[in-house]
Amino acid sequence: MTSTYTVVNPATAEAVVDVAMADLVETDAAIERAAEAFPAWRDTAPGEKARLLRRFEAVVDDHVEDLDELEVRNSGHTWGNATWEAGNVRDVLNYYSAAPERLLGHQIPVAGGIDVTFHEPLGVVGIIVPWNFPMPIAAWGFAPALAAGNTVVLKPAELTPLTAIRLGELAIEAGLPEGVFTVIPGKGSVTGERFVTHPAVRKVCFTGSTAVGKRIMAGAADQLKRVTLELGGKSANIVFADADLAKAAASAPAAVFDNAGQDCCARSRILVERSAYDEFVSLLEPAVKAVKVLDPSDRSSEMGPLISAGQHATVKGYVDAAEIAFAGSAPDGPGFWFPPTVVLADDPAATIWREEVFGPVVAVMPFDDEAHAVRLANDTEFGLSGSIFTRDVGRALRVSRAVEAGALSVNSHSSVRYWTPFGGFKQSGIGRELGPDAPHAFTDVKNIFISND
Ligand code: NAP
Ligand code: MG
Repeated sequence: MTSTYTVVNPATAEAVVDVAMADLVETDAAIERAAEAFPAWRDTAPGEKARLLRRFEAVVDDHVEDLDELEVRNSGHTWGNATWEAGNVRDVLNYYSAAPERLLGHQIPVAGGIDVTFHEPLGVVGIIVPWNFPMPIAAWGFAPALAAGNTVVLKPAELTPLTAIRLGELAIEAGLPEGVFTVIPGKGSVTGERFVTHPAVRKVCFTGSTAVGKRIMAGAADQLKRVTLELGGKSANIVFADADLAKAAASAPAAVFDNAGQDCCARSRILVERSAYDEFVSLLEPAVKAVKVLDPSDRSSEMGPLISAGQHATVKGYVDAAEIAFAGSAPDGPGFWFPPTVVLADDPAATIWREEVFGPVVAVMPFDDEAHAVRLANDTEFGLSGSIFTRDVGRALRVSRAVEAGALSVNSHSSVRYWTPFGGFKQSGIGRELGPDAPHAFTDVKNIFISND
């Protein structure tokens, strides 16, 4: 029987709307429609696929404001973030709309004929999205998957289905054929699990917790189903004494408190060279206290609430077990508010140093030299992103090569651009999204030899 989920505005704790959750029968029906739509979509001429993706992009562009408004209300994202996120969907669609005509194979020299390779689409791709960045993470999966000739079923997180549902409607409005891109609001334990077990789903592209990611990978083994996994992180922001300390301290809060710290790339461990530690911490304090934590309906808000009461309790549990050095402010009253919080850490075994909090909490620790910094940065099961602040080019290069993480930045914190690859080392994931090669992750290579005779 169909159940419903009541979407809650995290800034006010008020109910927004009830959303019907697909049951197993409805999930199977949507997967089967996607499987039926696959051959025609695969065989649609490359230029026509490209044109439809560009139309989808144009329709998204016409609705950026509506999508922003939905995300502010459903997810508590700031207007600035929501605007970037909807724009990112548009830009990702635009970028991959150029892929159908450029899905090039090789022609390989052989005797007695010719040998060519093709990047063949897989079939139905299942995309499972978390609640922290509902729009971009959806698009990083569906845009390259569609461009490569697959059909897509997409399950948003229960907490944040509204923008995904709207994107599904906009795809139809843009003229994508029925069944090519279907959004299925449903539970992880029902719809998400079915993507793993249904034989017509040939790949699962999952973003979320490391625990669920492992379960999906184990389940996918049964059918040798392809997976891309984007999981958790505990990324290091390494600040050397020779760095522009003012710049490093001014940029550190946004690098961890953006989206209230609910960001897999959050630089939630700051490592500072001991000789610069006191100065850095004294520069960090005013920067943290200056973060404008306001109701996201106020367009000057720089940080909104946590997503749910449950996430609030989790974050509070981590902070209660640690010692707060200083914190910013947050509104009181209803909503799942938590202030930006700084903990000074000295023990690499401490929970706050090791576990992903997924909230506005950062731990700061001193290090002695370059080798010590690298050792501390790599002393984690995760490996998603990280930053290095130094004016020494050689050191920037050495340390960025030595840190075991998929997306690093020097003297900045940018790690996600849709035209560069993104993904994790170690237990932060498998596979890469975005960048020029992303469509290949939704294909298998076929080699064909044609004899001269
Ligand atoms: P989660 O439980 O892993 O949920 C992520 C998605 O998976 C949701 O759509 C969820 O559905 C679904 N799901 C849950 N159980 C499932 C199952 N057994 N089979 C298939 N799908 C299932 O993640 P969360 O705890 O809500 O989100 C926060 C965590 O995600 C963070 O701790 C962070 O580590 C990680 N994260 C990583 C990235 C990244 O890019 N690396 C990005 C965002 C989040 P329901 O909504 O119905 O539970
Ligand atoms: Mg969960």
